Amino acid sequence: MLGEGIVKGLAETARNFFGSYFQEQRLTTVQFPEERRPLPEASRNFPFLVYDGEDSEKGLRCVACRICEKECPPQCIFIEKSKDKKPDFVGKQQFYPDVFDIDVSVCMSCQICVEVCPFEAIKMDTEFELSTSDRFEALMWKKDRLARPNEYYHQIHPTEASEVDARLAEEKAKAAAKPPAKPAGNSNGGSAAASSSAPAPVQAADEVPAAR
Ligand code: SF4
Ligand code: SF4
Repeated sequence: MLGEGIVKGLAETARNFFGSYFQEQRLTTVQFPEERRPLPEASRNFPFLVYDGEDSEKGLRCVACRICEKECPPQCIFIEKSKDKKPDFVGKQQFYPDVFDIDVSVCMSCQICVEVCPFEAIKMDTEFELSTSDRFEALMWKKDRLARPNEYYHQIHPTEASEVDARLAEEKAKAAAKPPAKPAGNSNGGSAAASSSAPAPVQAADEVPAAR
């Protein structure tokens, strides 16, 4: 019937308008910013870097492999890999990013950096109130601005973060169950768990500590 869609749309609007006086779920607006609706778990905006423990430098999961930098479509990630290594949260010697910047004025929130990271080190944030009058410096987020604790990851994406923790814990247990590698040529410092060697990316993922 001609105009059927318009009639249905108006009927729905009327149902919500009058229904909102009686049913809260029909009230589709809130008094922002005093009132806020919880964001869906799947919402995303710009990336952040996950760290374990209390120290954002020591616990940063990123090992500066630069895969995300290469795969980012608009090339808005800038990484400088460290020359030296430092112990991560579990004592394993790892490279780390000396510099890790994201130009969020260019980022298109595609999440490809998250998909390609083998270390569960970069995830999507949900923060959206980010307006600034500084077009340049304020939108070039540095490592310290990007680092967020694993607890924060759990807060915004609880289901996904729990799955990641379970996966990391499983890989860590598998690595710990492997027979220890011969010491020849491996100068890794640290714990007994760290002495179980494996190919670099998987091994490093094994070494990432599970959330508490
Ligand atoms: S979300 Fe997409 S555009 Fe933004 S940093 Fe990641 S890969 Fe690049
Ligand atoms: S892919 Fe992951 S570990 Fe590698 S540089 Fe990017 S965030 Fe760091």
